[in-house]
Amino acid sequence: MTYNFIDNAIASATSPPPFDIPCLHFMEAGLALAHSQISKGPVKPKFSGMLCGIYLLEEKIEGGNGAFTKYIHNMDYEPMMSAGMNGYDIVEFLVFTQHIQYCKTGGLSIISDYQGSRMLLTDPQILTDLLVFSVGSGADVFSKGNLESTVTLFEKHHECNWFCKWPGFGLKQFGSLVTSGHESSAL
Ligand SMILES: [Zn+2]
Repeated sequence: MTYNFIDNAIASATSPPPFDIPCLHFMEAGLALAHSQISKGPVKPKFSGMLCGIYLLEEKIEGGNGAFTKYIHNMDYEPMMSAGMNGYDIVEFLVFTQHIQYCKTGGLSIISDYQGSRMLLTDPQILTDLLVFSVGSGADVFSKGNLESTVTLFEKHHECNWFCKWPGFGLKQFGSLVTSGHESSAL
């Protein structure tokens, strides 16, 4: 959804944005089922025997522990690194993706707890207010990491950066540095 929004906005703009769009993705994951090789007949069926193991497989994050970075904590709106640090372009882009998610879901939800290694992300947290928006019929569908206030206070605390402010995206601006004269049209 986020990249569709970005791609459509850039395709419709009269000029390209003055920055590159990082190409990030969440790691691929899947289940592997292991079956025993025991079979009574002369021909072994493809999946003979009993199920003896179930494994969760995830795409490997290369580079070791030093390559792993926490970009945005699930109770914060700001990058967990300072300007100029390696990866700051990534974290600013992720702050911008939260703005897109907030607008495209009508203020319902954002992704946070962004972390990973450069282009590969893992272990995100969906943030939404289950009570206000009647999500999940009262069930705790997004675990204890779902800090509702991060979504409900998004407009007050999110600080738009250079990605958000590019006119081609047409995003309503949020943050302490925004004045009414600088606001563009809302989605
Ligand atoms: Zn913004």
